[in-house]
Amino acid sequence: MRLLSTLLITLLALLTTQGSLAASDRAIENANSNAKFLRCATEHPSPREAKALEAQFQWRKAQAKKPSGKPGNGGGGDTGGGGGGEGPTVPGPGTIVVNVYFHVITSGNAGAVSDAEIAEQMFVINAAYGGNGSYTTPYTFVLNQVTRTENANWYTAGPNTTAEVQMKATLRKGDAGDLNIYSSSPGDALLGWATFPTSYAGNPAGDGVVILNESMPGGDATPYNLGDTLTHEIGHWLGLYHTFQGGCSNTGGDYVTDTPAERSPAYGCPVGRDSCSRIKRRTEQYPGLDPINNFMDYTDDSCMDELSAGQVARAFDLSSTYRALTP
Ligand SMILES: [Zn+2]
Repeated sequence: MRLLSTLLITLLALLTTQGSLAASDRAIENANSNAKFLRCATEHPSPREAKALEAQFQWRKAQAKKPSGKPGNGGGGDTGGGGGGEGPTVPGPGTIVVNVYFHVITSGNAGAVSDAEIAEQMFVINAAYGGNGSYTTPYTFVLNQVTRTENANWYTAGPNTTAEVQMKATLRKGDAGDLNIYSSSPGDALLGWATFPTSYAGNPAGDGVVILNESMPGGDATPYNLGDTLTHEIGHWLGLYHTFQGGCSNTGGDYVTDTPAERSPAYGCPVGRDSCSRIKRRTEQYPGLDPINNFMDYTDDSCMDELSAGQVARAFDLSSTYRALTP
C-alpha cells in the first residue's frame, strides 16, 4: 500500500513538472498498434537539410524559367496549395505517363509474385493516383516490363546495403522519369523505401522504390496488404515528404500548406487525432486534424485514401523539375 502511494505521488509529481502535454504526447508516440511492421525507411531530411534542398529546388526552377520567359506566365495559376510562393499549373488527370519496370526478386520459392498480383498492384496505384473524387493527379503508371531474378542476398537487402546497391545497379532501367520497383523481403519488418527526385542526379543507379512483396494486394502483411505501401513510396519518388515531416515545431514541414501539421506518424486509423493541438501558436498557424487518411502518413492501408491538392501540385513541381515528368 505504502509502495503504491509512493508511486502515485511520484507519478503526480512527474505530471506536474512535465505537464500533461508530455504525457499525452508520449501516448501518441506509442500509439503504434502495428509495431510488428515498419512503414517506411525513406530517409527523412532534417528540417535544416529540407530547407537546403528547398533552396536548391527554388533556385533550379528560377534558372529554368530565365531563358524562355514563357508568355502568359505572370497570370494567376493558383493551384490551391503548394509549398508557398507561386505553384505550378497541374496538368489534367492521366496526362503524364510513367513507365514502370517491376523487378521481382526471389529466393528459392520465396517471393515469386505472379503477373496477376503485379497487375493488381498496378491497379491499386492507378486508382490512388487517379483520385478519390475529391482530388486527381496527372499520373498514370504503365507496366513496361517485369524482370524476375533469383538472388538470396538481394531478396533480403535493406536500405543502404551493398546488396541493395548491386541489385539496383544490375537491374535498373530507363532514366529519371522511369519508375523502377523492386519487390523483395528486406527484413526488420520493413514495408518499403524510396528515393526522392532531388537525389536522382547524385545517384541515378540507386533511384527507385523497394517494397515488401507481402505488402502487395492479397499479401500477408496485414493491415498493410492492400497495396498502398507502393502508393506511399511513389509519393516520395514524386517528391512528397511524410505529412509529419518536421512535426509541430517546424517552419517548413512537408512544404505543403494544406496538410495540417502532425507531431508524429499516425498508426491504425485514429479518427480525430490532433497531435499538434496543444501547441497553440502552431494550431493557429496550421489548424486542422491530423491528415490520417493521407497516403503520406503511416496509417493502415484501409485508412489512407487521399492526397491533398497541395501535395499534387508539389509532386508535379518536383517531378517535372527533376524527373522531366510532364505531359
Ligand atoms: Zn514514407
